[in-house]
Amino acid sequence: MKCAVIGAGPVGTAMGLALARAGIEVTVFEKEPSLPDDPRAATLQPPTLAMLDTLGSGAEVLEKGLRAPVFQFRDRASDEIVAEYDYGLLEDETPHPYAVQCEQYKVATANARALEAVAPGALRLGTPVEGFSQDESGVTLQVAGEAPSRVDYLIGCDGGRSLTRKTLGIAFEGFTYEERFLVLTTPHDFAARRFAVRNYVLDPVQWCALFKVPHEGPPGLWRTVFPAPGANEGPDPLSDDYVAAQIAGVEPALTLGDLQHRNLYVVNQRVAASFRKGRVFLAGDSAHVNNPLGGLGMNSGIHDAVNLAEKLVRLRDAPAEAERLSDAYDRERRQIARDYVQAQTIQNKKRLEAKTPEARAAALQELRDSAADPARHKAWVMRASLIAGLRELEAEAEA
Ligand SMILES: Cc1cc2nc3c(=O)[nH]c(=O)nc-3n(C[C@H](O)[C@H](O)[C@H](O)COP(=O)(O)OP(=O)(O)OC[C@H]3O[C@@H](n4cnc5c(N)ncnc54)[C@H](O)[C@@H]3O)c2cc1C
Repeated sequence: MKCAVIGAGPVGTAMGLALARAGIEVTVFEKEPSLPDDPRAATLQPPTLAMLDTLGSGAEVLEKGLRAPVFQFRDRASDEIVAEYDYGLLEDETPHPYAVQCEQYKVATANARALEAVAPGALRLGTPVEGFSQDESGVTLQVAGEAPSRVDYLIGCDGGRSLTRKTLGIAFEGFTYEERFLVLTTPHDFAARRFAVRNYVLDPVQWCALFKVPHEGPPGLWRTVFPAPGANEGPDPLSDDYVAAQIAGVEPALTLGDLQHRNLYVVNQRVAASFRKGRVFLAGDSAHVNNPLGGLGMNSGIHDAVNLAEKLVRLRDAPAEAERLSDAYDRERRQIARDYVQAQTIQNKKRLEAKTPEARAAALQELRDSAADPARHKAWVMRASLIAGLRELEAEAEA
């Protein structure tokens, strides 16, 4: 069997690596001349770490990453630490009872290094895919500047603006938030004020997510995510005045001079109407995008890749099962994207920005109560870590 993967982000590199490890001939095409290193995802959940272990890139990610044993919630107005959810309660559930903060390009680089060791030359940088067509026996790929080539299966891991999804004509259902997200990066040390490695700060207007990334080693960098007005609405979110007003409420000691980067993102909540058409599949952001609150996008994308690689291996060994296995990938992973990742990220945002005093008081009380109750606390971390969703899928597959 011969496969092609479009895109060498964290998902495409995991996809290529999983297929190559299973002895499937694979080429991963990346349009950029080097792996993109823009500041995006950084949180790896426990099941993802276990998957990377199996793929052979986990040790490098652990070595480069920062462990995040708890997930902290604060109230911005009172500065009270409302709840700290402890991933240590997952000790009996996973070999990695913690999240790890490691920038996504380091994850992609670790996957790419492992891929090169198993299948030298399988990753082709600076090689854009311009289009493809498919028939009953395979997929014809058009790579820039090359003669058409033929593969048995194609996997689009080409991000939110996916050429693969658009070529297949698959709808990307959901919505775009009117507000944008402002991401500020600073070496200023928030640990001095008892912030954990991963934190969420509730406020009806100026909620914020705050987490640490390893960058080039100690002391690392802190990234804050704030809501910002939509295009053509209100003040410029990248202006000094807007930025200063955001950071003042979270850390009065932080000044504009302490900031290294200011980035502004449009945020979508969307799931593709199907994750496959014929011999072509979607995985990662090409199939689903969500807000970054909860650190789930990169994780669920890598889970797609591992699930699909397993299906393609079974399909290679039992070609008569091709339709059933391809449909199972679509059904299983779309269910997780919809019922867990979309549901949880939308709920995470609503909780952070609870608007009325009553809704805010209820959100704060709910966090205090669930953290104080051992059974609810564990259920919370099972769900937030994506372990609960994966277990549900396993149970359904066995039924
Ligand atoms: C601000 C921000 C913060 C985030 N924080 C988190 C977080 O904490 N945790 C988390 O899990 N997720 C987070 N996410 C989401 C996360 O970044 C994405 O889910 C993740 O990047 C998806 O990986 P991917 O490999 O599917 O796509 P991408 O990383 O977008 O990679 C797609 C690749 O395909 C290549 N490509 C595209 N078209 C072609 C073509 N025609 N030919 C060849 N190559 C092509 C691109 O160059 C790119 O390298 C965040 C996102 C943002 C914007």
